[in-house]
Amino acid sequence: MGKGKRFMDRICNVLAVAVALYLSPSVFAQVPNIQFDSDVSASLKTQVLADIDWISTVHGVRSTPLHQRIFGAIDGANYMQWLGSRVYYFGVDRCGGGNAVACVKSKYDNKMFVTNQYIRGNYPQVARLMTIYHEARHTEKQNGMWAHAKCPSNFPYRSIWTGARLAGNRSCDGSELGSYASASILMDNISKFCENCTDKARADARLYADDQMKRVVGAVPIQRIQADFNVRE
Ligand SMILES: [Zn+2]
Repeated sequence: MGKGKRFMDRICNVLAVAVALYLSPSVFAQVPNIQFDSDVSASLKTQVLADIDWISTVHGVRSTPLHQRIFGAIDGANYMQWLGSRVYYFGVDRCGGGNAVACVKSKYDNKMFVTNQYIRGNYPQVARLMTIYHEARHTEKQNGMWAHAKCPSNFPYRSIWTGARLAGNRSCDGSELGSYASASILMDNISKFCENCTDKARADARLYADDQMKRVVGAVPIQRIQADFNVRE
């Protein structure tokens, strides 16, 4: 090999590394730089990252007005930006026990806790994601963390997670923009408009959208979210 060729090889190698370094931040910039506490198990961390990775690929052309208002377009990069600007840290906690999957705590800014039930519950991937987006909505201190409203005493629905009666519990939303509402709007849009999702993902999203949407209470919020669900194209 001549000296000139070797020199060119070295230049090419340097260039390749430079290009890789230049590209890598933009390639991975979509996925939020989330930090996990050291006591989060490898399997829990892997599942959370795999779920977030899935929604980073979602794509659709149309979306409903409320989805547009809360999340923007149906687009993985949007979803990553939305999540990444709210949640910087993940920890592990019992979140009050029972069948809780995830929670936020008001004294920990921009932090979400997941429970071991997140994996053990054997929920569909879209359901796990829905809880992540539900909890991420709760990090918004400027919006009172979207505190839940009391479900009416005659509320007929039960929890899709536990089967427990919801009447009289603080397990409803008094706004079409709250945590249950926004997560159901996300599911509704994925179900209707995701172009690269599997049939199973879209069907799972439909099931959870229709369930969680029922937790919106009050005549005006109900009318607003129903109108949004009725947008089909
Ligand atoms: Zn909540």
